[in-house]
Amino acid sequence: MTKAHGYAAQTKTSSLAPFNFERRDVGPRDVQIEILFCGVCHSDIHQVRDEWGGSIYPMVPGHEIVGRVTKVGAQVKKFKPGDAAGVGCMVDSCRECESCRDGEEQYCDRGECVLTYNSRYKDGTPSYGGYSNQIVVDEAFALRISPKQNLAAVAPLLCAGITTYSPLKYWNVSKGQRVGVVGLGGLGHMALKLAHSFGAHVTQFTTSPGKEQDAIRLGADEVVLTRDPESLKKLAGSFHFIIDTVSALHDINLYLSLLRRNGNLTLVGAPDKPMAVGAFPLIMKRRSFSGSAIGGIRETQEMLDYCAEHNIVSDIELTPIQRINEAYERMLRNDVKYRFVIDMASLRE
Ligand code: NAP
Ligand code: ZN
Ligand code: ZN
Repeated sequence: MTKAHGYAAQTKTSSLAPFNFERRDVGPRDVQIEILFCGVCHSDIHQVRDEWGGSIYPMVPGHEIVGRVTKVGAQVKKFKPGDAAGVGCMVDSCRECESCRDGEEQYCDRGECVLTYNSRYKDGTPSYGGYSNQIVVDEAFALRISPKQNLAAVAPLLCAGITTYSPLKYWNVSKGQRVGVVGLGGLGHMALKLAHSFGAHVTQFTTSPGKEQDAIRLGADEVVLTRDPESLKKLAGSFHFIIDTVSALHDINLYLSLLRRNGNLTLVGAPDKPMAVGAFPLIMKRRSFSGSAIGGIRETQEMLDYCAEHNIVSDIELTPIQRINEAYERMLRNDVKYRFVIDMASLRE
């Protein structure tokens, strides 16, 4: 075992605080990565606070990891020491079922997808995430990162990027279509940038008047303040596709009614309580309502390569790890533009 340290939550009500633990030794197919940056996802807050149930403590959160390879096992082909590398939300899966063979490990049919944290490896040991100095991961679950991009701003692509890219691709969002993005946070601002880059006409829905100008700068053709229900009504029946990234309970029917015939609304936001869905907004116009979870490793690499080619990164605010608890409070007040990224150099100070 190798020594590691980071920040962990000990219970669902405790703040994150320094924590020492161990990582496995580097096996033949493993790479060891010195973590340079880790994005802060709202899923980290949901899980630290056990809002989805079943949280495993102590918990070292973090699944938007970018760093430098320090060591590789004898059979590793994709990486050599010194390479930039990333780790997203998963570190293993069964690799044999239909979903895994299709490259959609996040939907592993055997339920053996091992998440980067708050999960257990096949041997039962808990997985610890990226709010830490290093990680050891099978190369099959490590991503290649372009060294030309700002590594801190690439980190959020590992979750916020792929979680929005995957449904935009699945639903064939393309040039000329009208697309809506609900919520302008970490996921929302990536959905906006990506949909804009695919040539869609994008409408950003936000509850925050202060974000209007930013939304335009990030690629929105139109911004709608959702606190005013009248502004939604005039958009009824106009969207091909809407992606909902909101982290808290809200009225989904308002957005379903904005879809045109055969339109789809995909939910990626994961509020802890069930939402009421009316029959009529769906029945009328043959609309569909679906969900989507992150994206497989193959598609994550495709997204990273696409973003490198099109110069797409996240808009970030770097934070030292010592201020992570404050960052959580600010995210809960919708006060982040648009992703906190932990500068892991602060852990070494
Ligand atoms: P975030 O940065 O906190 O952004 C969420 C945004 O939702 C806020 O910025 C705000 O946007 C809007 N919002 C918050 N509370 C609201 C409310 N009560 N009513 C209406 N709008 C509200 O969070 P994130 O990291 O993007 O994550 C968003 C959600 O996606 C979380 O639930 C997270 O767990 C989930 N998630 C899912 C997946 C997946 O695989 N499906 C992956 C990652 C994250 P405005 O200020 O613009 O209104
Ligand atoms: Zn995430
Ligand atoms: Zn599987």
